[in-house]
Amino acid sequence: MSCIYRYVPWTIVQDPATYPEYRADCVTGEDEDCGEMIRAGSPDWIEEWMRRHTQATGHRDYRRTVTDYALLEPPDELRGLRPALPSGLLGRDEG
Ligand SMILES: [Zn+2]
Repeated sequence: MSCIYRYVPWTIVQDPATYPEYRADCVTGEDEDCGEMIRAGSPDWIEEWMRRHTQATGHRDYRRTVTDYALLEPPDELRGLRPALPSGLLGRDEG
């Protein structure tokens, strides 16, 4: 029995069941970061929190991160099949 592996172009899409998460950490500080942080569902809320935090503390250094969730979608001819390899990036033809 032999196997032939071929490249199949999967598409990476944002998971429609989830929303991205936005986060900001105040990293102002010489020896240690301030440590205040916020998580929100919108970048607007993050920016508003940063403005207020700076206004209240004078802190001006932030680290911002965005986390989103992605799905790999198979091409139409492979829909309904499980990926043949752990990487999920290859389709498998047995010949
Ligand atoms: Zn701070």
